[in-house]
This record gives sequence, C-alpha cells and structure tokens, in this order.
Amino acid sequence: MLIVQKFGGTSVANLERIRAVGERVRKTKEEGHDVVVVLSAPAGETDQLLKLANEISESPDPRECDSLISLGEQKNIALLGLYLHSKQVPCISLTAAQIPILSNKDHGKARILHIVPDRIRKELKSGKIVILPGFQGITDEGDTTTLGRGGSDTSAVAFAAALKADLCEIYTDVDGVYTADPRVVENPKLLKKISYEEMMELADSGAKVLQTRSVEVAAKHRVPLKVRSSFNDKPGTEVVAENETLEKILVAGVTLNTQEAKVAIRRIPSEAGVLAKFFAPLAEAGINVDMIVENLSKDGTTDLAFTVSKEDLRKTLKLAEGVAKRLGAGKVEAASDIAKISIVGLGMRTHAGVAYQIFKILADLGVTVQMVSTSEIKVSLVVAIDDAKRAVKGLHQAFGLDRSE
Ligand code: ADP
Ligand code: ASP
Ligand code: MG
Repeated sequence: MLIVQKFGGTSVANLERIRAVGERVRKTKEEGHDVVVVLSAPAGETDQLLKLANEISESPDPRECDSLISLGEQKNIALLGLYLHSKQVPCISLTAAQIPILSNKDHGKARILHIVPDRIRKELKSGKIVILPGFQGITDEGDTTTLGRGGSDTSAVAFAAALKADLCEIYTDVDGVYTADPRVVENPKLLKKISYEEMMELADSGAKVLQTRSVEVAAKHRVPLKVRSSFNDKPGTEVVAENETLEKILVAGVTLNTQEAKVAIRRIPSEAGVLAKFFAPLAEAGINVDMIVENLSKDGTTDLAFTVSKEDLRKTLKLAEGVAKRLGAGKVEAASDIAKISIVGLGMRTHAGVAYQIFKILADLGVTVQMVSTSEIKVSLVVAIDDAKRAVKGLHQAFGLDRSE
C-alpha cells in the first residue's frame, strides 16, 4: 500500500516527538508499505513567526510573510530526514519548490493547483521514505505561499490524491474525531466513522481537528482518510462516504466557535439592492461573511445582522459604517461577546423538528438565541459567549452524545 502519514504540531513539537514520528514511519515502511510523510511546524511555531512578522511591520507584506511562516514546516522535514538518515533508514525530504507543489498567488490562503508527482514517485520507487512539508506551496514564479491555518491537513490529502494513495492518516493529539471538542465537553464520544459531509460541516463550523478544505479535497477525490493519535496505536476515526457510515444518527457532533463577531445595522431605508450595497465592499476587501439575518419591517426599513471573524471586525465596521451613512441607516453596532454553536448530523435530512428540539433544550437552559441559520444537515446558532459552553454541553447531553462510563 501507499500510505500518506501527516503529523500535526503537537506530534512534532520537539526532538523527542520527531524521533517518535521517525519510529512510527519506519515501522510502517518495514511492514512493506510505501510511505509519504507530511509534517507541520512544531506546535506554536507558526504563531511565533506570525508574531515576529507583526512586530517588525504594521501590515506585513503577504509574500514576505509567507516566506517566513513556512519555515516551521521546512525545519521539521529536515530534522526528520536527519533522524532517519542517522538510523540508516533511506529517506529524502523535499520542499514545496523541489516537489513541486504549485498553488495560486493568494498569499496566506493559497489554493493548491497542481502537484507534480514524478519526483516523489521516483524516490518512493528507490525505496525511500519521502518527507514533505505541509502548509506550503509555490507559485508558477517560484514564490512560496501558505495554505491558511491548519493547512497541513490539506497538503496531506492533496498529496494522497495526486499519488492515488491507498490511505491518508492524519496523526494528531486526540484519539480521533469526537462528538464535540474534548477541550469543551468533558466526555464526548469518539466516532468510529463519520461521513465526509458531516466532517466538512463540523470542520467548517469550528472543529479544527481537520482543515475544512482537506475534507473537501478528500471527498472530491475519494481519499480514504483516518484521524488518529500519534501518542498511541488506537484505530481512530475513519472519514468515509455517506453510504459507508454505520447508521444515520440524528446528530454526529456539536461545535463551538468563539472566533466570530456580530455586526447589526438597524433601520436601513429599504430599496432594491440594499443588501448588495452592504456586502459589496466587504467582498471586495476579501472579508468572509458567515451568518446573515435580515428582517424587512412593515415601516419599510430593514434590520440586518451578520457575523464575520473577529480579525475582520474593525475593517468590517469601517466599511459598514460608510454604507450606513450613505443610505441614512441607523447606528452600526458590533458585539464580540458572542459564540456560534453548530449542531451537525445527516439524520437531520429525514427527521423533522430538530430545530424545535434545539430551541426547547436551550429554552430549558435559559439560553437566549440571537441568530439562527440552517443547512440540510446543520443548525447554527449565535448565543452570548457567557452561555456558550453551558449550551454546548446541554445540547451534547440532550442529543445523547455524552459517553457513558
Ligand atoms: P494538529 O496540530 O495535529 O493539526 P489541531 O490542534 O489542529 O492539531 O487539531 C486537533 C485539536 O482539535 C484537538 O486537540 C481538539 O482540541 C480539537 N478539536 C475540536 N473539535 C474536535 C472534535 N470534534 N474532535 C476531535 N478534536 C477536536
Ligand atoms: N503550521 C501551520 C499552522 O499552524 C499549518 C498546520 O499546522 O496545519 O497553521
Ligand atoms: Mg491542525
């Protein structure tokens, strides 16, 4: 088999962990498999590099910034290469440019366009373990790009797809995908299997165990994907096509996202295209709008509320205030003390009344819902940040997801 094994930040945090990774990939090789290893930067290193960039420049140039923040991955692939060489294990590390892995020019959130698999294949054929960096690509001009935070997952899945690998294993610091973040809920269940679609929604709503894009790529190319712990040999979670999941449970998981802020504009004089007027400058500035609630009153004015990431709040406010003023709307208000909770499950397609169930659980908990949005398999809610953990725990328990000891 050809197996891609990706190790995240905590799994390659220091030399001891890198040695452990070395032993794991060596074992996989000795079992007779071809092995491609994809590494993250040591935990915290990308943050530290970003901090440096922000210290030396008020608005870091994106191209230079990518050259800097891709270094953590680059360091780790060489370190693993050095370790394996010292143990006489044939191996080679290759940077994004040496592979090459081509991306578009969208620095900081680049998309992989094409991976040339020839060199990797050649090295595998000669019996080597091939060690590749996550998170980075190069443009057709040879400039380094990065793929967005958590992007090493996407690198691994893209390598697996390009090489038509038999399996892509994502090694991390938890035993697999749980029904909720184990840092938020004390006793979540570990999922043996989850569908690509549910995983995509969970990742997109804040379960950072996999980057959303990695699940999209895996689903598109039908890459067999597993999430496992690098700290033990447990089997982990398989991400599979919908028809392979065991049963259509109503709710597969609950997520908490505290990275968004809410913007509200009241009494916007209604006219055709008023929403487009608000969102055009945001789109132009590359600001992602998540939830949107609009309410047209009888008096001919519109109330609008939406969420953006906290990082984008200042820029958003400035743009929204400009439009509000031009249109003669009321004050633009912002709230950062909110959280988004999402409940995800394939079973929602066939079960009626899930939204009601959710509202009832929250009402019993005395939690006020500020905004709601739904998709076929997901309900998302905005609540006050002080209520958020209690609400997640309450929903998790009420939908029967707590692990019974
Ligand atoms: P890595 O550095 O290995 O990429 P991440 O920190 O990006 O690891 O992702 C793993 C983390 O994701 C876990 O430590 C866990 O706290 C968090 N997480 C959030 N939601 C979930 C979930 N539903 N299941 C498992 N882990 C989750
Ligand atoms: N090192 C990068 C980050 O911290 C990529 C990754 O770990 O997936 O976001
Ligand atoms: Mg990650």
